[in-house]
Amino acid sequence: MNIPVKVFIGIGSNIGNSLENCEIAVERLKRLEGFFVRKMSSWYRTEPVGFKEQEWFVNGVVMGDSLLDAESLLRELQNIEKEMGRVRKVKWGPRVIDLDILSYGDQLIHLPHLKVPHPELPNRRFVLEPLCEVDPDWRHPLMGLTACKMLEKLPCGEQRVERIDVV
Ligand code: ATP
Ligand code: CA
Ligand code: CA
Repeated sequence: MNIPVKVFIGIGSNIGNSLENCEIAVERLKRLEGFFVRKMSSWYRTEPVGFKEQEWFVNGVVMGDSLLDAESLLRELQNIEKEMGRVRKVKWGPRVIDLDILSYGDQLIHLPHLKVPHPELPNRRFVLEPLCEVDPDWRHPLMGLTACKMLEKLPCGEQRVERIDVV
């Protein structure tokens, strides 16, 4: 029997009802065979990074157990993106839904179509805030730093991130 691997998935949207899109994506993840959602961060409204002339995003992080290997999981995530109507245009541009594998156990993956841990993870407040919320002690398998330590190291003032309070 396969042993489940702990994974983190980053979710983002900034087209249409972003919050609803993100919630739909989580529902899809819950229905994925071989993947088990264990914990979910709050949702965050986040300032766009890279390509600024677009709506703010909603972002969050899912912690899960995966029986799917990393490449199969990526395919499933891309399938959800496609089914939810994602069209690839501008790099870092607006999107209905974006699902990234942030980490996959302690694996280091360097394939042309899959890099794990996600190379931008240490630089992104919109990833580190929710990651730190779900698992503050998670350690980057290469850098050896916890999610919270990486968050501390980010320059303050840049990349606005606001937690959405659920009423
Ligand atoms: P970024 O990866 O910087 O967050 P993005 O999410 O906007 O940018 P996409 O257009 O969604 O980038 O994806 C481009 C390609 O990135 C995908 O086709 C996929 O093969 C590849 N990719 C590499 N590593 C990962 C990963 N860890 N998770 C998801 N996709 C990845
Ligand atoms: Ca992304
Ligand atoms: Ca992506």
